Amino acid sequence: MKRLLEVAVVICLFGIAARAQETKAPPKTIAVKAAHLIDTKAGRVLEQQVVLIVGERIEKVGSAKEIQVPAGVTVIDLGSATLLPGLIDAHVHLTGDPQDSGYKSLGISVPRQTLTGAKNARLTLAAGFTTVRNVGAASYSDVALRDAINAGEIPGPRMLVSGPALGSTGGHCDENLLAPEFAHHDEGVADGVPAVLAKTREVIKYGADVIKFCASGGVLSKGDLPGTEQYSPAEMSALVEEAHRQGRKVAAHAHGAQAITDAAKAGVDSIEHGSLIDDEGIRTMKEHGTYLVADIYNDDFILGQGKQYGFTDEMLEKERMVGQQSREGFRKAAQAGVKIAFGTDAGVYPHGGNAKQFAYMVKYGLTPIEAIQSATVNAADLLGWSDRVGCIEPGKFADLIVVEGDPLKDITVLERIKFVMKGGQIVKNEL
Ligand SMILES: [Zn+2]
Repeated sequence: MKRLLEVAVVICLFGIAARAQETKAPPKTIAVKAAHLIDTKAGRVLEQQVVLIVGERIEKVGSAKEIQVPAGVTVIDLGSATLLPGLIDAHVHLTGDPQDSGYKSLGISVPRQTLTGAKNARLTLAAGFTTVRNVGAASYSDVALRDAINAGEIPGPRMLVSGPALGSTGGHCDENLLAPEFAHHDEGVADGVPAVLAKTREVIKYGADVIKFCASGGVLSKGDLPGTEQYSPAEMSALVEEAHRQGRKVAAHAHGAQAITDAAKAGVDSIEHGSLIDDEGIRTMKEHGTYLVADIYNDDFILGQGKQYGFTDEMLEKERMVGQQSREGFRKAAQAGVKIAFGTDAGVYPHGGNAKQFAYMVKYGLTPIEAIQSATVNAADLLGWSDRVGCIEPGKFADLIVVEGDPLKDITVLERIKFVMKGGQIVKNEL
């Protein structure tokens, strides 16, 4: 017994010594010089700035005249380029690709989806999205992906993940492509208040940071209509109350007007899609401070290339019903002052093309700086991560991106990211 104790003590001491060694090396200091820096909080452009980074965080930001760059510090001079905080996409599905849609989806294993996620995490980060909220994935493949990225094993954005999305039997968040004899239910299916409560607790148990559920029917599913409600107000309220009790925010997939209003009344933190939003929905969302996360680019992709990617005729027909309406709804909601966070539903269309949506947001009512704020400060607020991402200021993670040109004059420059830094580490440099 004594011998065992001695061994344990030696192992402990060795562990402490190894950790002490790790902490010995001082964190690296980097100074980034930017001719233009977008202050996403104030919504303005600052000229001739220096960002001082120590380790993975921003230490200081200020004008080149004020900030003394200490000797021996690595200096990255961006020349005439524009510096922004890393972008945030609040609605992605990293573990899915559009070519895996429709019936093809049934032949793809969860391990395969997880590896697809590793590929898409890399593409998303290279596109300047240093943070994503992944809302819906099979069997916690997103939890595995998040943990591998956090462990530094694979490159990728910071991830907030939901695990399987909750929904009713036969609804958008169930799987209806198989015949009854397969007796298959999606893992997020829960009917009735007690089952919804239990499922909410279950996904939190297995690693969900956020809860996603289907309040209405959807487009890329069989046998349901985007406009119909799929959870009762009682089920939604129970879910939201439990999630919030456990410190998790809630994202509600909702196309239909009734589902949007009822989900907002139940206290969800964001409405995803919001395609058929009406005046009451807009009023209710404003009253409750609910974010709208509307994927208003991907209609072009689905109607243009969905057929060859395996989307069924029914899916394409439903997309024709809601695609353009969602853009008009977005314009109305934005003009009425509903809070907007950037979310693309990437996975429905190819990952890495997230920034294509900015031009559509500007076309449908936002100013360029508002579009940028939707993908930075607003999305950070929605995620509950305002303390760490969304703007360039002391204390935040050194998640930075660089574009050539002025995104406030031409928002499409965000589709061509030249430099990406995540947590003080350069992950892309084409300057
Ligand atoms: Zn989605």
